Amino acid sequence: MVKVRFAPSPTGFLHIGGARTALFNWMYARVQKGKFVLRIEDTDQVRSKKEFEEEILDSMKWLGLDWDEIYYQSERFDIYKEHATKLLDEGKAYKEGEAIILKIPQQEIKLYDLIRGEITFDSALIKDQVLMKSDGSPAYSFACVMDDALMEISCVIRGEDHISNTPKQMMIYNALGFKIPKFAHLPLIMGEDGSRLSKRTGAVAVSDYRKEGFLPDALVNYLMLLGWSPGNNQEVVSLDAAVKKFSIKKVNKAAAIFSIDKLNWINGQYLKKIDTDKLVDLLIPFLQEKGYVDQDVDKSSLKSIVELFKGRLSKLVNFIEWADFAFIEKPNFDKEAQEKHLAQDRSKEFKILIERFSALDSFDKDSIEETYKTVMEELGLKPAELVHAIRVAVTGRAIGPSLFECIALLGKEKSIQRLEAAFSCVG
Ligand code: GLU
Repeated sequence: MVKVRFAPSPTGFLHIGGARTALFNWMYARVQKGKFVLRIEDTDQVRSKKEFEEEILDSMKWLGLDWDEIYYQSERFDIYKEHATKLLDEGKAYKEGEAIILKIPQQEIKLYDLIRGEITFDSALIKDQVLMKSDGSPAYSFACVMDDALMEISCVIRGEDHISNTPKQMMIYNALGFKIPKFAHLPLIMGEDGSRLSKRTGAVAVSDYRKEGFLPDALVNYLMLLGWSPGNNQEVVSLDAAVKKFSIKKVNKAAAIFSIDKLNWINGQYLKKIDTDKLVDLLIPFLQEKGYVDQDVDKSSLKSIVELFKGRLSKLVNFIEWADFAFIEKPNFDKEAQEKHLAQDRSKEFKILIERFSALDSFDKDSIEETYKTVMEELGLKPAELVHAIRVAVTGRAIGPSLFECIALLGKEKSIQRLEAAFSCVG
């Protein structure tokens, strides 16, 4: 039976790289109708933190990566101790102080990696391995091998940074007389500048992406492309569809490049497709956090604002940034836009517009647009001449969706107030 595991250490948040490893294990388990184990490698009692563990579990759930079994290494110290002592009794290990150390015999070690093919290691370069540290805790490789063996893991799928650990671990399997599982080392994920993924290049926690308003389906979609492809240059693919096609042997050897632009694009594709009512529900917590709406928010009026922006968002926080004008008293002026489009005194033209807008009975998009065009014609100005100035005056920004829809949404009173305030052209 296929059984794989994801084995995070709760010494930090779940990062993009870890999430990709979890996803590939999960997809492999699901396509093979096997089992997916989550193993919390919390042997380092100083660096392991409950908050990290909770965040990892939470992020996994949010991504939809459900597990069939869960284990905590901190609860298994007796098992490690017992097997290390056995190796000691068999003369395969020795004591140094309180630590238990495995003797490494000289032999050539061949690894057949499902992704990278055959790799040969020279055991002369491998030093004797600590199994149990003097504080009674197991060393990473020993606990890892013990668990992979006892949990009957059939294939170890993990990041390429663990390749150098593999020959050491194979020696431990041999010493214990356990069957060596298959191995598949996933390619590294690099930043676009070719350096290793870091905070700067995007290695932030999954929970940070969640906070910015990436959808879990979109993030999972993007993660699966980091080293694998569903074929036919397809980029937007659901997890269900991907699982059916997934093959660990088809994973690339070459490093994957993390591109935030591509992630934004994919997320934007998912946001376009999402049902507007659902989008409204997703946006409400973001709006509440900003204090823009409260508990009894009127969803239907919110929906009309959301509809205006729907096709433009690449993440949910974009809405909070761009549509803020509809929720706050005075627009949040973008300095550059203000200097560019409100520098020239347009108070004369604005005054006329204000008078005409005030006289409108029905303040809808079409009547506002009509009125604007008529005024421009009367003034002998080009039709688009004041569009930017009005947009900045009303929304604070030089770009955004249909100006006349924005004005209609904001309503007559507020729109006029903002036009008046732009050049203080009252009276
Ligand atoms: N706890 C290890 C890590 O976080 C697991 C390595 C492995 O998958 O063997 O990198």
